[in-house]
Amino acid sequence: MLDDYKDLQPIVYRILKNAVIKNRNSHAYLFETKGYPRQMDIALAFAKFLLCPNHLTNLKDCGNCTQCQRIDDGNFTELKIIEPDGLWIKKEQLEELQEEFSKKSVEANKKIYIINHAEKLNTAAANSILKFLEEPEENIIAILLTDNLYQLLNTIVSRCQIISFGKMQMKEMLDHYHTENETLFRIGSILMDNEVSLQNYIQDEKNVEKIEKIIKFVDYYEKHGKEVLLYMNHMWFDVFKDKESIAQAFEIMIIIYKDIMNVLLDRPIEVMKSYEDTIIRMAHSDKNTIESVSSKINILLEKQKEIKVNANINLMMDKLILSFEGR
Ligand SMILES: [Zn+2]
Repeated sequence: MLDDYKDLQPIVYRILKNAVIKNRNSHAYLFETKGYPRQMDIALAFAKFLLCPNHLTNLKDCGNCTQCQRIDDGNFTELKIIEPDGLWIKKEQLEELQEEFSKKSVEANKKIYIINHAEKLNTAAANSILKFLEEPEENIIAILLTDNLYQLLNTIVSRCQIISFGKMQMKEMLDHYHTENETLFRIGSILMDNEVSLQNYIQDEKNVEKIEKIIKFVDYYEKHGKEVLLYMNHMWFDVFKDKESIAQAFEIMIIIYKDIMNVLLDRPIEVMKSYEDTIIRMAHSDKNTIESVSSKINILLEKQKEIKVNANINLMMDKLILSFEGR
């Protein structure tokens, strides 16, 4: 619901709500999202606000009528969402949209399309959208989303009303995801590539246990060297069994050593803030120099590539530790 963003994005909320209430909609909006994590949700909430018949009569947030429900389920024909297909948004995707939108509207008096990651419009697609924006039809509204305004063609930017999001503080961000664990949020943001999986990752308490298990493992190795191999069952294999979880564990080990490197370089810890003491202690152990930590990161990156193709993952952990030891 648009009202969910009243406190999180107060300026955006006010502009969008007023536009609808005063019936002064732009035919094209460009949301400059500045890394805001729920950009698509806010665009959808706005689209819903524009399309839902209840809003027109009482201007309240709805979310319950059949129209709103079908928007939630993704099968409302007068709302189209375009996402990059691979690296780019392609011309064909926009041509398909334009063809569909040229048909007579059956469901609503407005049609809306949302282009997520609009900076990924390739040249042909950008030109195609430009024509669409230049000859706006009364009932069609475009919502373009981008993290980076400067990667878009000026000619596109100049035809849209720009809605700049406020940059969110970490605390607000964490409240948003209902967690107090900044490390969990940051690791999730690195591991997960979309909003829904990020939310699921943060809500799954097992992931906190996993992160703790990995930091304990690394800490034990840093204190006792290859002796860690004697305790692998209990320190590692009882949690990290399948290739996917092992791949994630490797990613987290890389994150840990990168933060150890940050301490060695007098930079702030980026991800492992909740384990600051352990990270600092490991950075200051006699074993660790800039060279040795950078070599461990490289070894991890190398071994990480082998996970997919390696049949014996148990043996791989032995090899990892031995490579750390320089053998
Ligand atoms: Zn509704």
